[in-house]
Amino acid sequence: MPSPSQKARALEALHKEIRKCRRCPLWATRTQAVPGVGPPDARVMLVGEAPGRQEDVQGQPFVGTAGRLLDTLLSSVGLSRGEVYITNVVKSRPFIGPPPGHNRAPTAGEIVACRAWLDDQLRIIQPEIVAVMGRVALEYFFPNRKISEVHGRALAHDGRIILPLFHPAAAFHRQELRETLKQDFLKLGQLVRARSSRRSSRARLAQAAPPMKRKERSRRAQNTPG
Ligand code: SF4
Repeated sequence: MPSPSQKARALEALHKEIRKCRRCPLWATRTQAVPGVGPPDARVMLVGEAPGRQEDVQGQPFVGTAGRLLDTLLSSVGLSRGEVYITNVVKSRPFIGPPPGHNRAPTAGEIVACRAWLDDQLRIIQPEIVAVMGRVALEYFFPNRKISEVHGRALAHDGRIILPLFHPAAAFHRQELRETLKQDFLKLGQLVRARSSRRSSRARLAQAAPPMKRKERSRRAQNTPG
């Protein structure tokens, strides 16, 4: 298991590579790539679709209006932006029209070109829970599932929990999704708390183990012929 400092170095090097990436045509129209932000050993990772206008300008994911809603939803379940790692499936901004243009969904080709970066982020950070926000992020893990059918349900994937959520931006077009998002974030809070209490139990057991081992050693020593 790599140490936090090893993870930090690996993630920093990866972010540098992503900022230089030219694997798809989006490099030519971006202000900058947006690799992701958050602790290198975060237990929770949030994955969205792609940077929008504000993210492209500031180089940070989820800093526009959807980002503010995301912050509110996180704090409603006792989480802060500083303790989760936030990124997108696609790291450079897709848009249409003359700059600054309008945000658009990434194409299948852009998603395929970019997905190796998210593979690397998952490998380095090793989050226990990944909240996938919106269709594009869900399809990275489950290509045949629909967000409308699985949102708010914890799914197992490759040894970790995937929690599908609607993208916060969707709540600006469909007001009824705000309540759904709130409820689904409650599930995220529950999952994090359940994992934390399991960790605490394991830590308590590990602390209790040495005295038991000492007892066992002394019993064996007494039974050993001299
Ligand atoms: S979207 Fe991804 S693959 Fe395309 S240039 Fe940006 S970082 Fe590279």
